Amino acid sequence: MNNCIFCRIAAGDIPAHVIYSNQVGLAFLDIRPLAAGHTLWIPKQHYGSLDEITDHAAVELLKELPRLAKTVRDVTDSGGYNILLNNGTVAGQEVAHVHFHIIPRREDDDLGYRWLAGEYPDGQAEALQERLHRVLMNHA
Ligand code: AMP
Ligand code: ZN
Repeated sequence: MNNCIFCRIAAGDIPAHVIYSNQVGLAFLDIRPLAAGHTLWIPKQHYGSLDEITDHAAVELLKELPRLAKTVRDVTDSGGYNILLNNGTVAGQEVAHVHFHIIPRREDDDLGYRWLAGEYPDGQAEALQERLHRVLMNHA
């Protein structure tokens, strides 16, 4: 038996406030919303992490994301939204089934939006750029 809570929601075994469903994905309201309309958009198939997802699922999920986000924003009469994906426990992922958060934002919502940014010591950005570029271009 699959104990993943989002798999169980996708299977209809436990209830959720579903707002949209297609062959690949399911969108439902977060049970502990940061704002009214806070939505989760998940693949129906289980992938623990973004880097496990198939190209097909990635394309299909991303294809719908702008329309979902725009609809959540417009229906909740918000000014904008944050799209958030916590990947890995260290990044705050609590449910190990990949999911996008769509969080409607308003001027006075007190949620904040800036994390403390750092600075690169001399040479580090260049060294990282070089390593990352080499790996990404398959020249490693
Ligand atoms: P994350 O920290 O990115 O893994 O976020 C998990 C999110 O799932 C949290 O915002 C929870 O409030 C939400 N959540 C957990 N269980 C449920 C549920 N049964 N229905 C709807 N949302 C849920
Ligand atoms: Zn799952």
